[in-house]
Amino acid sequence: MARYTGSVCKQCRREGMKLFLKGERCFSTKCSFERRGYPPGQHGQSRRFKQSDFGLQLREKQKIRRSYGLVERQFRNTYRKATGERGVTGENMLIRLETRFDNIVFRLGMAPSLKAARQLVGHGHFLLNGRKVNIPSYLVKPGDVIQVREHSRKLEIIHEAMRRVREERLVSYLSLDKARMEGVLLTRPKREEIPMTGNEKLVVELYSR
Ligand code: SF4
Repeated sequence: MARYTGSVCKQCRREGMKLFLKGERCFSTKCSFERRGYPPGQHGQSRRFKQSDFGLQLREKQKIRRSYGLVERQFRNTYRKATGERGVTGENMLIRLETRFDNIVFRLGMAPSLKAARQLVGHGHFLLNGRKVNIPSYLVKPGDVIQVREHSRKLEIIHEAMRRVREERLVSYLSLDKARMEGVLLTRPKREEIPMTGNEKLVVELYSR
């Protein structure tokens, strides 16, 4: 599967906001966006122009896509599947993104970043309802139980990430039992509960052109 191999901090600078793609570093003074909060490139500091409608839609799409660490094809596929569901397409798309297995593992704090969560899931360190699932894009359903596998419980990267978890910061649709290294998706997330500031309506407008 294709993946982005460039600088992730440049993505935050390009979008003009922190996308929190590097775990703890994003909360430290080492964050690139804190030090250089302007777009990357030679003309990053000087370029000022009025954005067209298309430009605005494109930026919102990139912001959401990059926040979930997907390449264009994966993101567009998610959108396409969301158009086939009942309800509001933009919201359905966000819910699909939010309930990906790798994203749920990250939101539960079982990995320091979304990228690390994806790798840990791919390497089979988690169970879903007692069965090993190593597909990061697998959609978690309400009531599903996510656990760290027995033999993976000693992994430093998981321990360190869980040590930093603050349960009061957890999103409302998840519950976590730190001692048992186990989490549950309680309900289907609602749009207002999803910590994503990108405007999904503009993504729908862009893809409907
Ligand atoms: Fe973005 Fe995190 Fe890099 Fe800061 S450290 S620029 S928030 S990825």
